[in-house]
Amino acid sequence: MKKKIHGFIEKIIENDIKKNNQMILRTRFPPEPNGYLHIGHVKSIYLNFTLAEYYNGLCNLRYDDTNPKKEKKKFVNAIKKDILWMGFNIKNITFTSEYFDILYTYAVELIKKKLAYVDQLTKKEIHDYRGTLKQKGINSPYRNQNVQKNLDLFSKMKNGFFSEGTVCLRAKINMSSSSIIMRDPVLYRVIESKHYHTQNKWFIYPTYDFAHCISDAIEGITHSLCTLEFQENKKLYEWILTNISVSNYPRQYEYARLKLEFTILSKRKLQILIEKKIISGWDDPRIPTISGLRNKGYTPESLRDFVQKTGFSKQDSLIPLHLLESSIRKDLNMKSIRRMAVIDPLLIIIENIDLLHCENITVPNHPNVPTMGSRKIIFSREIYINRDDFKEYADDNYTRLTYNNEVRLRYAYTIKVTRIEKNKKNEIIKLFCIYDKNTFKTQPKNKKISGVIHWISKKNVIPTKFYFYSPLFTIKNPDLEKNFLNYISKKSKIKKNGFIEKDLPNNISCIPYQFERIGYFIIKKEKNKLTTCHQTVSLK
Ligand code: ATP
Ligand code: MG
Repeated sequence: MKKKIHGFIEKIIENDIKKNNQMILRTRFPPEPNGYLHIGHVKSIYLNFTLAEYYNGLCNLRYDDTNPKKEKKKFVNAIKKDILWMGFNIKNITFTSEYFDILYTYAVELIKKKLAYVDQLTKKEIHDYRGTLKQKGINSPYRNQNVQKNLDLFSKMKNGFFSEGTVCLRAKINMSSSSIIMRDPVLYRVIESKHYHTQNKWFIYPTYDFAHCISDAIEGITHSLCTLEFQENKKLYEWILTNISVSNYPRQYEYARLKLEFTILSKRKLQILIEKKIISGWDDPRIPTISGLRNKGYTPESLRDFVQKTGFSKQDSLIPLHLLESSIRKDLNMKSIRRMAVIDPLLIIIENIDLLHCENITVPNHPNVPTMGSRKIIFSREIYINRDDFKEYADDNYTRLTYNNEVRLRYAYTIKVTRIEKNKKNEIIKLFCIYDKNTFKTQPKNKKISGVIHWISKKNVIPTKFYFYSPLFTIKNPDLEKNFLNYISKKSKIKKNGFIEKDLPNNISCIPYQFERIGYFIIKKEKNKLTTCHQTVSLK
C-alpha cells in the first residue's frame, strides 16, 4: 500500500507538481559502501523510496563510492540485502564511480572557465589558509596559475604523477566568503589506493561535494534529500551545478538526522567498536544496524513503523529508545507464537502426583489468534518454574509463590508449597508442593490464589541459553562524547540458563516467540546444535 510522507518535504513536492504536472519525481538513496546500514539509514531509505512510490516516481540506490580507502564490495552487497529485506523495491542501482570519466570532464570544464586550479599547498597549509568564522581566508599562491598550467597539472594528477597529499584541485570561489565551505573547496585529491570497483584505473578521486551534485544531475534527480549537516554544502552544490554545462538542475532539501538514545549511529564509530572487539561484528544484536536488529528479531514492519512515527522534519531531536521498542512490541504482539520458558530454573516436586503420571493439556499458541492453533503440554510430578517466582519469605500481597499461599500454574492447577530442600550453602535446590486436582482451569469460589506463574514439565524441556540485551552505552547521547568508549556498559549482554518447551516447529522461525511473562525471543540453533534464545525486547 502506498504511504504518504507528511511534512514539509511533501509540501515542497506537491507544490512542484502543481507547477509542472509533467514532473516525474526522482529521488535517490546514496550510501557510501564503507559499512553496514543502520537505523538512521532506514529513515533515509524509507523517505526516498516511499516518496517515489507514492508519486509514481523512481528512487535510485546510488553507491556513493568515491573513497577507495574505506569502501568494499562486501558492504555493497550487504547494503542491497538490507534494503531488500526492508521490503523496498530497488529498480535502479547506480555507482558514483561509474561517473568518474564524466566527473573528470566537468572538472576540466571548470579549469577552462578559470573556476578551478591545481593547488600545491600542503594539507596543513590549505587548512591554515582557509581562516575561521571570524577570520577571512588567504589566497593560495597557486590560485592565479594560468589555465594551461592547471590543465597540465590536473592531467598529471590523473596520470599518477603526484603522490598523495601533494596536490589537489580546488574550486576558485571566494576566500573571504562568510561560508567556509565556499573558500576554494577541494574538488579532487590524489588517493593511492585500489578502488574496489574501478580497480587501479584512477589516481584521483572527486570529493563528496563535487561528485554528489553532478551524480544527482546525471541521474535526473528532482529532489535530493539529505540531512541537516549539509545545509552549508548546499551553496557549493548550487555553485557547481550553475557553473558546469549540465542540463538537469536538482534541488537539495535537508531534514533532521535520526538520533537514537543510548547508541551511536555512525559507521566510522561502529567500525571502531568492531575493531576493538567490543561487539562481535556488524550484526551484533546490541548495535542498531539493520543486520543487528534483524539478528535480534526486529521485523521490517517494526522499523518502518518506527521511522514513520518519528517523522520527517527539520527539528533535531534524540529519539527515546522506548519508541523503537514499542514498534517491535506492537508488531510482534499479534505475530508471535506463545511458549513457556523458564530462566534460572527451580525444580518443583508435586508430591501428590505419581512419578509415572503424565497429563496432556491442550493450550493455545496465541491467546487471541485461534488460527495460530494449539499445542499439547505435559503436566507431571516434576516441573520447573523461574527461580525468581519463588520467595521463601514474603508478605500477603506477594503475587508469586511463597510459603502459605497458593498460586495457579498457567493453563493448569493451583499448587502450594509444603517444604523446601536446601544444600549446605543454604541455597534452595528444590521445592515440594501439592496440587489441587479440582482447580483445573477453574477457580473454586472458596479458594484465594495469589497469582499465576508459568512452568514447564521436566518431561517436556530443551536446555537453552538465554541472552538478554540492554543498551551498549551507559549514557543517553554517547555520540556527543569524544571518548565514547569510556561509556560502554558491562551489562549489555547477559547469559542465563534455562529451558524452553520441546515442541518447537521444525523450521525455527525468524519471527520471535513470546515466552509468556518474560519477553520476545528469537530462537537459534547454534553450530554445536545447542539452542539459544536471544531477547528481541522485553514485554514492557
Ligand atoms: P554514517 O556517519 O553512519 O556513515 P553517513 O551519512 O556518512 O552516515 P552515508 O552512507 O553517506 O552515511 O548515508 C547515506 C544516506 O543516509 C545519506 O543521504 C545520509 O544523509 C542518510 N543518513 C545517514 N545517517 C542518517 C541518519 N542518522 N538519519 C537520517 N538519514 C541518515
Ligand atoms: Mg558518510
